Amino acid sequence: MIYTYPDYYKEFKCIADECKDTCCAGWQIVVDDASLKRYKSVSAEHEFKERLDKSIDWKEEVFKQDECRRCAFLNEKNLCDMYVALGEESLCHTCATYPRHIEEFENLREVTLSISCPEVARILLCKVDKVTFYEEENGEEECLDDYEDFDDLMFGILQDVRQVMISIMQDRTLDVRLRSAIVWEMADELQECIDNGDAFYCQDVLEKYVGDISLNNSVSAQIIKEMKSKLDDFLGNPKQYYDTSLGMFKKLYQLEVLMEDWEQQVDEAALMLYGKDEKYYASLCREFEEWLNSNMFYWQVQFEQIVVYFLSTYLCGAVYDGWVASKTKMSVAAAFYIHEILMSVWLKNGKKLVEEDIINVTYRYSRELEHSDINLDEMEECMSQ
Ligand code: SF4
Repeated sequence: MIYTYPDYYKEFKCIADECKDTCCAGWQIVVDDASLKRYKSVSAEHEFKERLDKSIDWKEEVFKQDECRRCAFLNEKNLCDMYVALGEESLCHTCATYPRHIEEFENLREVTLSISCPEVARILLCKVDKVTFYEEENGEEECLDDYEDFDDLMFGILQDVRQVMISIMQDRTLDVRLRSAIVWEMADELQECIDNGDAFYCQDVLEKYVGDISLNNSVSAQIIKEMKSKLDDFLGNPKQYYDTSLGMFKKLYQLEVLMEDWEQQVDEAALMLYGKDEKYYASLCREFEEWLNSNMFYWQVQFEQIVVYFLSTYLCGAVYDGWVASKTKMSVAAAFYIHEILMSVWLKNGKKLVEEDIINVTYRYSRELEHSDINLDEMEECMSQ
């Protein structure tokens, strides 16, 4: 079995009681069967047995929460009492794995770290170098019966697509908005090939954008010229810019709300950014852009890291549903939503931001989106409309 990891994978270490927003509060942890069995088998004589029995909802198979939605095992120092009493091996699958996230393909496991963890978001957003990926192989054999219908051919195409898209997103000679626009446009063309049953032609689409993909993945000068002109027209048309941004932002209201404070933040941002008119919005965006360029020197890199994170995590999942465009757009949209909410935070803070604000908005966005399968599906659905 091959395992792949982003190059910052080994930098992560849970900061436990120092974490400003522990993952042990706010979400209901569903306990896997093997762990439930283990908890049941703890001896009645064990001093932790009573607490264990009382803190698990055995019917719903979840850990109970207090009125502040903190896990019943989380103590006032934000440490896990079960971990302290029964050791690391006692943790259920979710607790033992998070923030690691694994996408499964035939003979391949792609392991990432979820940026819904503030510490992972900090590692990623403080990283200046382009993200790369490494692989390791172990002797494990895949159960091929589980992958009888796996489309190797399609998966190979998707790996090429992802590689090209990531290279474009990491081309720092281009403005990050231009890179995003190119990837967005390319996604529609790829989707057309797949919808028409011509997945083979995806290769032609890639070559149209970057030439021979085995050489390097620089976007052709012609494509840059065309896309730059389209983007300039779009940004120079306040009505279109405002309507498109507002339309995109409204999609957030289609997601289920996991945390109330997030709903409030989205409402606030909507009002502050779109509550007036297109001229106000366009001038705000311009001013914010200038402020970012002069004060947040790594914003373009951070934008890139966010899009690359989502592309690397989700794009190849299209092997199961064929939804390349929606997965690509969901990746670019993540950076857009984070940008918009940050702009509202900047306004609220008297036109100032600190790095911590970028980390906060990023991990909060990821929590709302990535910790709900309903929201992930809904976001993809929205992106395909
Ligand atoms: S959110 Fe991340 S750093 Fe915080 S407690 Fe959970 S795993 Fe640890």
